[in-house]
Amino acid sequence: AELVGQPHQGLSHMFVMMNAARLAVGVEGVGIAERAYQHALEYARERKQGRSVWTGVANAPIIDHPDVRRTLSVMKAKIAAARAICLSTGVAADLARHAATEDERRKWKGREDLFTPIAKAWSTDIGCEVASQGVQIHGGMGFIEETGAAQYYRDARIAPIYEGTNGIQAMDLVGRKLSQDGGQSARDLIADFKATLPLLGRLYTGKPVDRFANAVEAVEDATLWILDAKADKDRAADVLTAADAYLKLLGDVTGGWMLAKGALAAKAELDAGTGDPVWLEGKIALYEVYAANVLGHVSSRLAAVGQGGALLERMSADVLAG
Ligand SMILES: Cc1cc2nc3c(=O)[nH]c(=O)nc-3n(C[C@H](O)[C@H](O)[C@H](O)COP(=O)(O)OP(=O)(O)OC[C@H]3O[C@@H](n4cnc5c(N)ncnc54)[C@H](O)[C@@H]3O)c2cc1C
Repeated sequence: AELVGQPHQGLSHMFVMMNAARLAVGVEGVGIAERAYQHALEYARERKQGRSVWTGVANAPIIDHPDVRRTLSVMKAKIAAARAICLSTGVAADLARHAATEDERRKWKGREDLFTPIAKAWSTDIGCEVASQGVQIHGGMGFIEETGAAQYYRDARIAPIYEGTNGIQAMDLVGRKLSQDGGQSARDLIADFKATLPLLGRLYTGKPVDRFANAVEAVEDATLWILDAKADKDRAADVLTAADAYLKLLGDVTGGWMLAKGALAAKAELDAGTGDPVWLEGKIALYEVYAANVLGHVSSRLAAVGQGGALLERMSADVLAG
């Protein structure tokens, strides 16, 4: 047998492959979600049903009903956020190897490590959610096989399971990735979130800014809570109970941050008079959709982070069966 790599470094060598595979599965989540979205968008433009409150047309295409428009908008916003997280994980992986200095390479490696479980778990959860919403937009036609919408939903369902279930990704995030550098990578990321906040205040007023500010505060509180709990060996169950909600919270806020940066870049292009104005205005609206529909939920994520292991211990197998 041949030795691959250095002795006693097997697990870390294996993680080179695992990180790439996990990112690839995250991208699979994005790909299925995008396909399900395009399918649903096309159907919503063709299917006619009911009077539109916007156009007054009696037999309007369902895309002209606010609830269908909301669903499509949230699907689009979540896909854009998941895609940005996956691409940024790839950029971090490249810079972890090729940045100019050792310090920068270490910093980017920390970000790659932090983002990889989020890219895998958050994006594949979005794949399922968006594919499910795609079925919903098709109504009864989505449930039967003819349109193909149900096939995307089934295909999306494997991605949160293989290459380490999403529960295992969350445990990896809080158990290894968050604390391997004493929480420095998470602190750097939170500092980047905070640096975007004043810029956001130049583009939006009121809720889109407040929601991001609240979300960043929530993720900072949750991070400190977990790092504190991790420092106490008697609180292992608290940390593991918090894992899923923490990954989702960090994914929600990272996705929002990336859409916010996209909106800022779009505004700069609009001001310069370059690019397609419909596409660029769309980027600015997309962040607002995301802020209202995703960032608005951060307080429930924070509550789930802090619920504590003792509560779930009380929900014993007997209680669950009762
Ligand atoms: C279509 C398909 C293709 C696959 N391809 C490959 C492949 O190419 N290569 C490969 O190596 N594997 C492959 N797998 C296997 C896949 O990686 C495993 O199914 C997956 O890792 C989950 O393991 P399991 O099925 O044993 O579930 P289990 O480990 O039994 O997990 C069941 C549930 O319990 C949870 N759980 C388990 N342990 C813990 C714990 N300690 N703490 C908290 N929660 C826990 C899990 O998150 C999950 O929700 C494939 C599976 C499928 C279905």
